[in-house]
Amino acid sequence: MDAVIDFIQTHRDRYLEELKTFLAIPSVSALPEHAADMRRCAEWTADEMRRIGLENVRLIETPGNPVVYGDWLHAAGAPTALFYGHYDVQPVDPIGLWTSPPFEPAVRDGELYARGAEDDKGQVFMHFKALEAHLKQTGRLPINAKLIVEGEEEVGSVHLDDFIRQHRQELAADLVVISDTGMIDRNVPSLCYGLRGLVYFQIDLRGTKSDLHSGSFGGAVANPAFVLAQVLTQMKDRGGHVKIPGFYDDVRPLTEQERQEFKRLPFNETRYKKELGAPRLHGETGYSTLERVWGRPTFEVNGLVSGFTGEGAKTVIPALAMAKVSMRLVPNQDPDTIASLFEAYVKKVTPKTVALKVTRMHGGKPWMVELTNPYVQAAGTAIEKGFGKRPLFAREGGSIPVVSTFQEELGVPSLLFGIGLPDGNAHAPNEKLDLGNFYNGVIASVYLYEEIAKVGR
Ligand SMILES: [Zn+2]
Repeated sequence: MDAVIDFIQTHRDRYLEELKTFLAIPSVSALPEHAADMRRCAEWTADEMRRIGLENVRLIETPGNPVVYGDWLHAAGAPTALFYGHYDVQPVDPIGLWTSPPFEPAVRDGELYARGAEDDKGQVFMHFKALEAHLKQTGRLPINAKLIVEGEEEVGSVHLDDFIRQHRQELAADLVVISDTGMIDRNVPSLCYGLRGLVYFQIDLRGTKSDLHSGSFGGAVANPAFVLAQVLTQMKDRGGHVKIPGFYDDVRPLTEQERQEFKRLPFNETRYKKELGAPRLHGETGYSTLERVWGRPTFEVNGLVSGFTGEGAKTVIPALAMAKVSMRLVPNQDPDTIASLFEAYVKKVTPKTVALKVTRMHGGKPWMVELTNPYVQAAGTAIEKGFGKRPLFAREGGSIPVVSTFQEELGVPSLLFGIGLPDGNAHAPNEKLDLGNFYNGVIASVYLYEEIAKVGR
């Protein structure tokens, strides 16, 4: 291993120059005028895969931008890891806020500034260099590797689910490694092992054919705005518990180990409250803020519309009231089950004085990998070796749809092995990659493959 690490130390400058070339390609998937750049970037990615010694490298066409595929499959008996990342980047607007042009990569104070530096070219490149170090120095990898680098992540990975389904056989692996996320902070390496899911609804209440004069009709009919408020207050109690019967039945309780992990994280509640501008924090009683955001489900009202909302006064009984509501779900809640429970409950608590319409919108399953999973442990050891510190184990309150897709289609655990930082400005002007984190990440990745090999299949 020493030789592999030495290889990395002596090639740092070359890495930087190569990464700059990758970043200089304006692969903005959202904008049609960059179609040629998308293709050029896919080809650059494929060429780089060949340069570092991967095999079977090719662009696999989709109805949108191609997926770049490469593999190395000569570690007989060792586990196979499927690596996922993306070569497309976010648009650069507002361009005026960039200190240096987004596609002219520049280093300032140990950070590399460019669109895509962190999300996700820098993190894809981290694995390229770790794979290269193994292959050039020893002629082999400790594991079998399959890489897919897609070009549509920033536009919702529209063709990825189909791609994974169609190539399920080819993509079969023992685990998935996704490097498209972040760590808690500089010098606080962490591993994310859980994400929340979602179900989203629109509720429409109709009271009458049209708005009514509140003097002539007030007292004769129900007011949908008022009924909607009453319905919504039935969803949660004052202690933040969701009142939908059966809502918590499948919630996997946080273990004592998880609660201890969360307590070790550098989280300052006073500063958090101040940053949000909230007079007080609020959530389900009996849980800390991080536990509520990461490990507990919620019910939220996302929007409300009814009646007269213009300037001045209008004496009206609105005909309609509408709310958008959603529930963030945690393992092992199932979006379909929760959707049915919600629909039944909202029907039950809505009086017959209004007509109710409930429309289900998008959603996704929650995800987590067990902390005791040996591959998670392997990733922890690799991070400790690369960053010099045992990582903390954290979850995230949001969703990453591709993670659930891998879970469902391939049925194997994913590692969210990300090196982004909270101030990395992903999706914003002056996106940057901390070069110290990057080089540590390359070393951690080199160890990751070793550690995965030790676990076996
Ligand atoms: Zn990304």
